Amino acid sequence: MFTVLIALAVLSVAIGFFNALYAGYQVQKAQVVKNSLASNVAYAEKLSEFINLYIDALHRQLKTSASRLGAAGGTPQAVAAELSRVAAQGQGVSAVLLADAGGTIIARSDSSPAPLSAVSTLAELGMLTHRPADWVVPCCQHDGQRAALMLVEPVPGKDGAPAGFVAAVVVLERGSRLDRVIGEHPYGDGASVYLVNVDGRVLYSRGGGPDENVLSLVKADVSPTSGPGSAQVLDAAGDPVLAGYAPVTKGKWAVVIQRPLDQVLSPLKTLLAESLRFAIPAVIVTLILVCGLAYAIARPLARLTSAMGSPDAVDRQGPQASLLKTWYFEADKLREALIATLAQHRHEVGRLNTQTMTDPMTGLMNRRALELRFEELVAAGTPFAVIALDLDHFKRVNDVFGHPVGDKVLILVAKTLSDSVRQQDRPFRVGGEEFVVVVPAPTPDVALHTAERIRADIARKAMPDGVGHATVSVGVALWPQHGKTAQAVVKCADEALYASKSAGRDRVTLWKEDLSP
Ligand code: GH3
Ligand code: MG
Ligand code: MG
Repeated sequence: MFTVLIALAVLSVAIGFFNALYAGYQVQKAQVVKNSLASNVAYAEKLSEFINLYIDALHRQLKTSASRLGAAGGTPQAVAAELSRVAAQGQGVSAVLLADAGGTIIARSDSSPAPLSAVSTLAELGMLTHRPADWVVPCCQHDGQRAALMLVEPVPGKDGAPAGFVAAVVVLERGSRLDRVIGEHPYGDGASVYLVNVDGRVLYSRGGGPDENVLSLVKADVSPTSGPGSAQVLDAAGDPVLAGYAPVTKGKWAVVIQRPLDQVLSPLKTLLAESLRFAIPAVIVTLILVCGLAYAIARPLARLTSAMGSPDAVDRQGPQASLLKTWYFEADKLREALIATLAQHRHEVGRLNTQTMTDPMTGLMNRRALELRFEELVAAGTPFAVIALDLDHFKRVNDVFGHPVGDKVLILVAKTLSDSVRQQDRPFRVGGEEFVVVVPAPTPDVALHTAERIRADIARKAMPDGVGHATVSVGVALWPQHGKTAQAVVKCADEALYASKSAGRDRVTLWKEDLSP
């Protein structure tokens, strides 16, 4: 009982505690993931705005330069000087190229880096000449670590058709102007930033290598006209990452910010461990209290249960005994029920005992009760006298007055017998009209005196229905003087009784060896 209560209590405390912890963690996790996705998107948007502004500024410079070159015509030196000026002024511009109307490069700025020096047409750089002027395309290398971007502006001709093209090349690599813009994000370690072409290629990455999942995410959801968004995706290793993306409108790109979910949740996990550490003492105190309470609840019930197993102990202690003390309503009720049941049980047993040991007609005890009385006295070693009585000529009463009157006579004789003896000298009805009185610890004189008194009392009594007076013949024998066992003494008393009959009835005879008259 106690163990079950304790197990229940411990289980419920543990389940409650871990459930609260788990639910709290899940709620906070959902919140953290939501926040992280939102901030990824916000940051991607901010970055894309930066890049747009940056390209816009470059583009304006290029446009000014293109119209200047178109107007001036100019010497090759003047052209080269103009190109170098634009390259120097445009922040992050690696080279500025001038191409003729067919796209063949005819001049370049001084600072042109080595890979670009070998290029002779814009087409080689992946540039088609007829395209919206503000588009920016990746060119040369885009291996994720280093990307070259190109802006092209037509040089206005005389007849309205372009006389040629001015192209600015921005190399995006570690430490470059654009890279610094990308890298200056306020994110902690673990976040990766990708510049992704909408055809699915990673142009540039910071903090992580090219990732297939970035590409699939971008291909599915990003176009220059689509809005920003976020998603939880799996990275190449199959680990969940939180991605936010925003398209860059100056070109067909998108900015993607990714952060591993693990990294996002790690502060939360630390927090969880902390709360666990703080909560454990409280949980232990709760457990101790709950166990104490369970014990306090179980104890009265355990006592009641054991009391039910040994009702004698309850009897000995009495129903109000401390053994059965309880302190709460239900146990109190159980205790009352137990005591009531035990009382009922006792009463029932007593009733059955009385029934089996009582003669229903006279209300005297029967032969079975007499045997028990003998056992009691013999076991205690208490000497006693057996007084045996038999109604004289009773058959005649039946014959003359009828059996029912005979019964009445028997009932009155029994009553007279009971009235005539002391409480401890109990009378028994052992046969039809035969009785025995057992007198404890008598001397022969006391025994004879008692027997004589009984005989006289009966003889004096007027019997009902005109029967007149009834008499009894009486035999007396003593234990242990006249027999070793109670049965032997009863036999002696019977012999003495029949001696009384033989001697004329209505008299008392004490047993002796020779009873012959
Ligand atoms: P005695 O003096 O020799 O004892 O003569 P008795 O007539 O009493 O002879 P006995 O003891 O042999 O007869 C007992 C009679 O008691 C026999 C029976 O009819 C009668 N008797 C026994 N039990 C009952 C009883 O319960 N009710 C009635 N009415 N009569 C009973
Ligand atoms: Mg008889
Ligand atoms: Mg008789």
